[in-house]
Amino acid sequence: MRNYYDIVVIGGGIVGVFATLDLALRGASVLLLERRRICSGTSGRSHGMLHSGARYATTDPKAAEECIRENRILSEMAPHCIRDVGGFFVSVNPGEEEYHRPLLSSCRMAGIPSREVDVDLPRTLEPHITPNARSAILVPDKVVYARDLAFSALLMALTRGASVVEGAFVERIQIEGGQVTGVEASSPSGVFKIRCRGVVNAAGPWCGEVARRAGLSVEVIPAAGVMGVANANLTRHIINRMRPPSDGDILVPYAAGATIAGTTAKLAEDLDRLGVGEEDAEILLQECGEVVPALRAIGFSRLCTSVRPLIAKNVGETDLREMTRSFEVIDHSEEGARGFVTAVGGKLTTGRLIAEKAVNTIAPHLGIPTGSFTEKIRLDPPSREEAKGIEEAIEAGEVVGPLKTMIHESLEMIDGERYWSLLLPLVFSKRVGERL
Ligand SMILES: Cc1cc2nc3c(=O)[nH]c(=O)nc-3n(C[C@H](O)[C@H](O)[C@H](O)COP(=O)(O)OP(=O)(O)OC[C@H]3O[C@@H](n4cnc5c(N)ncnc54)[C@H](O)[C@@H]3O)c2cc1C
Repeated sequence: MRNYYDIVVIGGGIVGVFATLDLALRGASVLLLERRRICSGTSGRSHGMLHSGARYATTDPKAAEECIRENRILSEMAPHCIRDVGGFFVSVNPGEEEYHRPLLSSCRMAGIPSREVDVDLPRTLEPHITPNARSAILVPDKVVYARDLAFSALLMALTRGASVVEGAFVERIQIEGGQVTGVEASSPSGVFKIRCRGVVNAAGPWCGEVARRAGLSVEVIPAAGVMGVANANLTRHIINRMRPPSDGDILVPYAAGATIAGTTAKLAEDLDRLGVGEEDAEILLQECGEVVPALRAIGFSRLCTSVRPLIAKNVGETDLREMTRSFEVIDHSEEGARGFVTAVGGKLTTGRLIAEKAVNTIAPHLGIPTGSFTEKIRLDPPSREEAKGIEEAIEAGEVVGPLKTMIHESLEMIDGERYWSLLLPLVFSKRVGERL
């Protein structure tokens, strides 16, 4: 590995991976450092939903608009990572039925294509929905395979000269004379230092911790969420309860034989030691079971949890459900750290957009162009020539970690582009399904 890069990206979640790709497309030399494995943080443990934005339309219109915009962009960019299953909002009691009109008009105001449908439609298409269903709205919610998306973006970044190291824990960000000059990281083979002119802090819920390693302060509100996996095909569409965001309000038909019910929201005390209690499972079974009663009979085979990196809109805000699902990009220049940018908050759905804003913020410091470099790309498989280039980069030590094996396997599969869209999801999504 070289000892100088223009910029180091910290954190291999969806934001860090897209920031790496974006920087590489702008011609910067970029190194991504991930303390564990790519997508081992929140991104690899999400609900798997490419939001239409409808979930946030009434309470958080900015986040809703960001979601629908990115829903369209990612659907064009990476169709092999997305299943267009569609989503229903279903009311099951008079209170929820009252939410029907405000939801519909908020969706329209946010530009979310939403259609009021006869409740017989979800009842016919979804035999497990309660007969008590009273009204329904159809929205373009989709399933997204986060690891596949990140992996595809990373492969493209590698074809543009990016480097990536898994198992590299960033210990310190060096700042001299008010300017970022390097980072120090520890890995199984020892401590190493990289000189650089810029750092993107994309450490998700750990953004505050990483900022402290540069002597800076970033407030992140860590909201842990629990999801339950039921080994059954309970629905064909994503099913949302017709009410403002709340515990146990979404069921996702994630993969064959796996429905994910979620989520809950509780302040995480220790980011690296998350507990899952029986009471979490109870809440999910109760709330999701009111719309799909068969869930209660089947129960969960597994529970999993991860942490949302949230930002508070107002000082003193404490309600985790009311906090915005939009994001913030912080330029730390004025705090004496030129070239240090933090990107925090948002959703898996909006990770590309967050990365783009972060890169546009750091670009003037690096003398690279601003603009939109990832909005119109297609994450197609590398050409044979590019695949050869990636193999050479691996040989030269520009890719470090178990990721290498995954890349070798996928490049072996690329024996003609037409196999890509068929094989990649089969191989990688299945693994995701197993891991969840
Ligand atoms: C339960 C739950 C369900 C969700 N479901 C959805 C959903 O269905 N759809 C949706 O759009 N959004 C969903 N979200 C939100 C979404 O998953 C997150 O907002 C998003 O994945 C955050 O991505 P990120 O890249 O910022 O953070 P992360 O994915 O957490 O990435 C940060 C990375 O930084 C690394 N890191 C930390 N410290 C260091 C260090 N010192 N050195 C090196 N690396 C470091 C971590 O290991 C991690 O991999 C969900 C969130 C939760 C909690």
